Amino acid sequence: MAVAGFVAAVGTACQPQTVPTVPPPTTTTTAPTTTTVPQTTTTTTPPVPAPSLAKATCASGSTITVATSVVEDVRDLLAAAKSDGLSLCGGGYRSADAQIAVRQANCGTTYYDIWLKPASQCMPPTAIPGTSMHEKGLAIDFTTCSTRTTSCYMWLAANAADFGFVNLPSEPWHWSTNGL
Ligand SMILES: [Zn+2]
Repeated sequence: MAVAGFVAAVGTACQPQTVPTVPPPTTTTTAPTTTTVPQTTTTTTPPVPAPSLAKATCASGSTITVATSVVEDVRDLLAAAKSDGLSLCGGGYRSADAQIAVRQANCGTTYYDIWLKPASQCMPPTAIPGTSMHEKGLAIDFTTCSTRTTSCYMWLAANAADFGFVNLPSEPWHWSTNGL
């Protein structure tokens, strides 16, 4: 009676949610949207300042863009490989937009897929935008290093550390200054 009146009053105090919120990071059961992400330019992480960049030229004539701080090491690495008869090249620096595009390709296209899904759940594993060593110009994906049995991988495994590069074990092609 009187209690029911209170309940009704409380009930009417509820308001519809009007603010679209970030989907909770713990769920994959409810897709936040079935349409495209409305604001692809909005980031949840501070934008990574573009590093100072330079190009290292491969034996093939192509180039790898990396941070200026490591370009001499990369040039030396490429030259050492060449002197051992190995032509190495690959992809280095990636802009924030490029990292988002890679996440879309490897992880999925929802907000969750791009910004929240753990890197290990992408195929292949792909860092959340803002956290990739590629965005710092400190990682290289070598194009001929798809497996550990390639001459590319075996040469790098024996020599890359001399030039300050370490492999990410889950990706034979990915070498960076810290192994991430
Ligand atoms: Zn990589």
